Amino acid sequence: MTANEVRHVAITEVLNRSGVETAEIRPLSETWACDVFNLAKMEEALSKNAFKAVKKTVQTGEPLDKATADIVAAAMKAWAMGKGAKFFSHVFYPLTNITAEKHDGFIITNTDGQAITEFTGSLLIKGEPDGSSFPNGSLRMTNAARGYTAWDPTSPAYIMQTANGATLMIPSVFMSWTGEALDKKIPLLRSNAAMDAAARRVLTLMGETDIAPLNASCGPEQEYFLVDAHFAAARPDLLLAGRTLFGAAPAKGQEFDDHYFGAIPERVQVFMQAFEDKLYRLGIPAKTHHNEVAPGQFEIAPYHENCNVAADHQQLLMTVMKATAAEHGFLCLLHEKPFAGVNGSGKHVNWSVANSTQGNLLDPGTSPEHNLNFLLFCGAVIRGVHKFGPLLRAVIATASNDHRLGANEAPPAILSVYLGDQLEAVFEDIKAGKISASSDGGVMDLGLSQILNFKRDPGDRNRTSPFAFTGNRFEFRAVGSSQSISGPLVAMNTMLADSLNWVAEKLEVELGSGKTQAAAVAAVLKELMELHGDAIFGGDGYSAEWHEAAVSERGLRNLPTTADALPVFEEPEVIELFEKTGVLSAVELNARYEVYAEQYINSITVEAKLVADMAKTVIYPAALKYAADLANTFAAVEAVGASFDTGPVKVIAENANRLLETVAELSTELERHDFADTAAHMKHFATTIRSLMEQARVHADTLEVEVDDALWPLPKYREMLFIK
Ligand code: ADP
Ligand code: MG
Repeated sequence: MTANEVRHVAITEVLNRSGVETAEIRPLSETWACDVFNLAKMEEALSKNAFKAVKKTVQTGEPLDKATADIVAAAMKAWAMGKGAKFFSHVFYPLTNITAEKHDGFIITNTDGQAITEFTGSLLIKGEPDGSSFPNGSLRMTNAARGYTAWDPTSPAYIMQTANGATLMIPSVFMSWTGEALDKKIPLLRSNAAMDAAARRVLTLMGETDIAPLNASCGPEQEYFLVDAHFAAARPDLLLAGRTLFGAAPAKGQEFDDHYFGAIPERVQVFMQAFEDKLYRLGIPAKTHHNEVAPGQFEIAPYHENCNVAADHQQLLMTVMKATAAEHGFLCLLHEKPFAGVNGSGKHVNWSVANSTQGNLLDPGTSPEHNLNFLLFCGAVIRGVHKFGPLLRAVIATASNDHRLGANEAPPAILSVYLGDQLEAVFEDIKAGKISASSDGGVMDLGLSQILNFKRDPGDRNRTSPFAFTGNRFEFRAVGSSQSISGPLVAMNTMLADSLNWVAEKLEVELGSGKTQAAAVAAVLKELMELHGDAIFGGDGYSAEWHEAAVSERGLRNLPTTADALPVFEEPEVIELFEKTGVLSAVELNARYEVYAEQYINSITVEAKLVADMAKTVIYPAALKYAADLANTFAAVEAVGASFDTGPVKVIAENANRLLETVAELSTELERHDFADTAAHMKHFATTIRSLMEQARVHADTLEVEVDDALWPLPKYREMLFIK
């Protein structure tokens, strides 16, 4: 088959699809968490004492003794083998965005060659993958490759089913021989602990005596595209880079707003149902799904869970989603911007802080006494966003998210916080000293009815804000759809820990000077607002005026690309933040900078090579063929004394020539390695390489609209986005 035939065959195949893949879907009551070794299963399988100990570990993080670990391991093995598992694996989250696993059999043989099975507490607790191939940012030399995985009992083990068997999966942390974090889970657990300790300080000062462990809670909304696998197979860029590097805009895009919340195509709905059934089996509470803004774009949001479990579940969700999509003949695209000119995909991270005694501390509730805690926690978030906005920008910086941020459809690369009109007014009043302690000294006299209204609607939604308060939580909207949510959650938890510690220190002083609780809170928040109120912005985050004013008037930083944002990891204030809170040492942080910078450079390198490859071997030949056809036809027509305008051939020749020149220059620029440091290397990619890729695209996309459709080799936007 020639290249253009591949495209036409793909169209025929997709149009001739018969029916949809169906699966046996059991009622939720039978399937919910059936493949998870959760507390309920442990309660059945373990002795009373062992269960009590495990439950305590799961709920409070207290260490588990060795003997209990042995008991848990035995019960886990029995349960998993009963479900057909012959292998187990520690699951961990290296500094890539993937999930890593190393499978081991339960089987060993005795001296008589008989097979027996073994799974002790030590095997459950510790694994040792040869970690030298995981990115570590020079934390570990390859000749000192020892890496350890260790069981995280606070995230339940589960079974991964395939057509031919089952594997017991054990969520784990991953560290170097010297004990440094090589993964995304360790800092997440540490950041939650730092936040818990700081929150506890504040709550204690606020007179709370019974304070259960606090957890950050997270509900991530995942956007994604589905493209028929036949089209994907004919697009090297979709297969290797997860996005289209070329592609002219279709005559119809999303301009009619007729896709958002529209009826879900049956084939997609059948996929969603099969996918969600798998999630339910794994104990992942899929809650919402709908069409998104762009044609071919959809969203799934699970119900919120504690951040550690939510992060594990989110990784698993992405894996299961891609695999199920493939079973249904789709390629699932998690890239932030698979198609130029239509909306990209994000992952809105909804985040709050809660425990079983004080409830959700970002829920304003209905009575002002309790609002004092809320106001302090909300204030702490405002301070965090102001002080560490650049860090929040850095943790969402990837080559793929750069295509989306600030692109007039997604939050800007400047971090501000949206509170909604009423809440913003409350904080402005606090700043202006209008709200102080009431004369009876017991509660803060807010003198406003708006506080009571919080629960219903604290204000309108603002889709243009990167970080928005949405009634009882904040929503970090700038996170990329392909990303692990751990990095953003680490940054949010850590900045909150730092801010709550600041609040606690100020409160201690105010209370020490004899002020009532309410007066002390008012004073602390007034100071906080004077220092950090500039982070609050309720206007249009997409507008050019804001981009200007944010920087010149408010002193916020605009970090448009990953090359601008990642070096924030190297700034003294950020190093100090992570060291002080015990979340990451300077060495661990620097390793992350190096790894993420390398990933940025690598992913653009792959794309740039693909641009050159596709330009030369797919697009140029199609242009040449069409130009030759035209030239032959023109010559034949001329022989009979008629003539065609030769303009189209000239346009094609011009763009084909420019395309080759541009990719030749691109290949030369890719060879450069003479950079002073990592930041300069990234900058080269953010500027020269990216702009040459875009230039090449302009020529290729011009060719696409000039060349005979019958000769065009790559599936077009209209086909990939609209044919399901
Ligand atoms: P939207 O209207 O913003 O698209 P969705 O219903 O799609 O909202 O998703 C909202 C997400 O926020 C869900 O994952 C939900 O579980 C989560 N969420 C709700 N309350 C909280 C909370 N208190 N803390 C964290 N996440 C929450
Ligand atoms: Mg949503």
